[in-house]
Amino acid sequence: MKTFAFADILLKWHVITKQRNVPWYNEKNPYKIWLREIILQQTQVQQGLQYYLKFVKNYPTIQALASESLEAVLKLWEGLGYYNRCKNLHKTAQQIVNEFNGKFPENYSQLMTLKGIGPYTAAAIASFAYNLPYSVIDGNVKRVLARIYGVQSNLETSQGKKSIDAILKKIFDATHSPQFNQAIMDFGAIQCKPQQPNCNICCFAPHCFAFKNKKIVELPVKKIKLPLQKRYFTYFILHFNNKILIKQRDDKDIWSGLHDYFLIEDIENQNINELEAQNLLKAKIKKIKIKNIHLLNAVSSQKLSHQHLYFKIFLVHLKDNIFPCNTYFWEDINTINNLAFPIKIKPSLWFK
Ligand code: SF4
Repeated sequence: MKTFAFADILLKWHVITKQRNVPWYNEKNPYKIWLREIILQQTQVQQGLQYYLKFVKNYPTIQALASESLEAVLKLWEGLGYYNRCKNLHKTAQQIVNEFNGKFPENYSQLMTLKGIGPYTAAAIASFAYNLPYSVIDGNVKRVLARIYGVQSNLETSQGKKSIDAILKKIFDATHSPQFNQAIMDFGAIQCKPQQPNCNICCFAPHCFAFKNKKIVELPVKKIKLPLQKRYFTYFILHFNNKILIKQRDDKDIWSGLHDYFLIEDIENQNINELEAQNLLKAKIKKIKIKNIHLLNAVSSQKLSHQHLYFKIFLVHLKDNIFPCNTYFWEDINTINNLAFPIKIKPSLWFK
């Protein structure tokens, strides 16, 4: 690895560059740093920003978050995806209040004992809140280093991770830990962007492997994309006496902790009409008494990270409320919008 004064160049660049206009800039409060890190995982800054602001407004302290119901926290998180992150967030807030007297641990190893806090988040809190010498490795950091130092391995592999760790060990400025971390993340976001990095005016150009070798498009090495699994959801919104039958989804599948309606998942159902849907429902729920059934949407879809979901949704008015399964419960139409649902099927789309 060629040596040059990476940290000096980076920190100088940061001083003269207009910094990003985000509310968490120079934030020292570990609670807010943690919120930001959890919310921004696998989320674009623009989208994450709205959620960060909502969380800080609704739960200005960790005590406020810990004392809220999981249901209400999930409702605020609704639409952000990766719902286990939200459940861990809530659990960790309670752990910190109960076991650490409401104060974030101030060292890396204790931070790592908290649920949902991995090496990256622990390093971010340790560095930004407590000035400890831990380097933060997010997607921006990895991209910048892969290009400048010409890392040829896929960054998701252990070889790729080892290469990034080894580079950071050599270049990290432990005496300016938060400044270094903020600067390299900003450099990736502003200068060395995923597409069209600004190589023509770049302080690293004389040292940059990708620039000198015309490998900017190739680096970092892209991960092999697995084909998305297609899933076909036919939902039946069962309505009786101003109530809707719903259930809370369990941990074994997507949308853990959110609610949905009576679901039949099957590729065969995608083109069914109302009569066929009625017969399907009668076959599944023997004693059901249907007053009428309406198709609520033509097929809509949603892409998650590994799955492509297709929805078909029927509203079914029942003559009585017989239902055979106790994981379901009836929720009043006037309160159903207080519960968290997947964004594409949330009741407010139909019941205001
Ligand atoms: S020269 Fe281009 S690829 Fe290299 S660090 Fe600068 S912006 Fe990134």
